Amino acid sequence: MTCIHCRGEMKSATAPFHVDRDGYHLMLDAVPAWVCEQCGEAYFEDREVEAIQATIRTLDRQAQRLSVQETGTAS
Ligand SMILES: [Zn+2]
Repeated sequence: MTCIHCRGEMKSATAPFHVDRDGYHLMLDAVPAWVCEQCGEAYFEDREVEAIQATIRTLDRQAQRLSVQETGTAS
């Protein structure tokens, strides 16, 4: 596999992944990925991307329960 940025060689490794959502931030330290030996660009395969998206969907639902609702009746 070749890096789309610098055409360097990509190795099977891990890379951190973070996403900023409304109400929370998700930080994964070591997601399996292809990482460029030259520039460090990380490329996630479909399987990992789908797993991350499934995690975000679940977190979105749970975070909504935990977030303060403007019309809520928290006491
Ligand atoms: Zn590169």
